[in-house]
Amino acid sequence: MSDMQTTFIDLLKCKTITKNHEEVKRAFDIVESFFPKDIFEVHYFESNGFVSQVVSFKGVDWKDTDLLLNGHMDVVPAPDEDFDPRVDGDKIFARGTSDMKGGIVAMMYALRDIGLAGKSLNCALLLNSDEEIGGQNGAGYFVDGLKAKSKFVLVADGPQFDEFRITAKEKGVVWLEVKTKGKSSHSSRPWLGDNALDKLIKALADIKRITDATEIEDWKTTANIGFIGTDNQAYNKVPDNARAVVDIRFTEDIALHPEQLVEKLQAELGDEVELNIIVGGSVVNTDIEHPFVKEISQIASQVYNKDIQVGFSHAAHDARYFASKGMPTALVGTIGANWHAQDEWADLSSVEKLRDIIYQFLEKQVK
Ligand SMILES: [Zn+2]
Repeated sequence: MSDMQTTFIDLLKCKTITKNHEEVKRAFDIVESFFPKDIFEVHYFESNGFVSQVVSFKGVDWKDTDLLLNGHMDVVPAPDEDFDPRVDGDKIFARGTSDMKGGIVAMMYALRDIGLAGKSLNCALLLNSDEEIGGQNGAGYFVDGLKAKSKFVLVADGPQFDEFRITAKEKGVVWLEVKTKGKSSHSSRPWLGDNALDKLIKALADIKRITDATEIEDWKTTANIGFIGTDNQAYNKVPDNARAVVDIRFTEDIALHPEQLVEKLQAELGDEVELNIIVGGSVVNTDIEHPFVKEISQIASQVYNKDIQVGFSHAAHDARYFASKGMPTALVGTIGANWHAQDEWADLSSVEKLRDIIYQFLEKQVK
């Protein structure tokens, strides 16, 4: 077993389910002791009990770097046996293999090996512990609370089923609460009332029209109505209130930030319709011609010995927090499957390749 596999397994054994702060600390201790103290510094910050870890070269201002590597140590809930890693051929099974301790271990080795080679970089590794529940206290606090920034962010949280890809675009997200009010009356005399559900149904149709929402698999906005309801308990009464929640995943041609999108919707829907953002995230809209994106894709093409595509993702990651501040951000990851499901696995050789890609990319940034 390689040294990297051993570290990987040590991290996988930590039951870092979001909010299990003790196990997150155990994993952070493994990371801290991994980096030689004469070359690297380890910092921590905390928000609402969620601790994040930052590793940087000595003397580097980790809140203002040229390059930030990012990942999350937390995983979604899983039974105990999923924290007992199992290697089968080239596959390693455990909770968090693909999402995303494989990415973490690749970044750790790449960064440390640059230091061991006697090189230094204006670079930091940021590891959060709340990505799976929204990331507000990790990546969110990093950019909003600490006002920390970087000229480029590489997030190793883009696992793929089939082949390695660089993700430069991710859809923005809004969980939008839509509320309407009316006036109740007996339903045999609806002219005496004002039906709030009718207004809501019209508003929802308008939202789909304004956002040009589709349901096809493409780089297009989607809008899923996940909930619709009213306090009304009687079928023979005109409802005087109604509420719905729509999950909108939007692309850059409609808006970059959730607030922009909601402003646009509010202007068209008018004051009669109340709109509230429950959860919001910006579009990751990195130029695929960005020199770093091109560099990573060239290196990855060599490592994988084939043309590597720059693509997009329908999901939302911590990357959106960096994008919300205009930082160019790209995602890379391991090959595997079943993240957030049973039998999550990662391909071990893809972890090694990811380490090689990140190492060579870092090496190119050494001046
Ligand atoms: Zn993840």
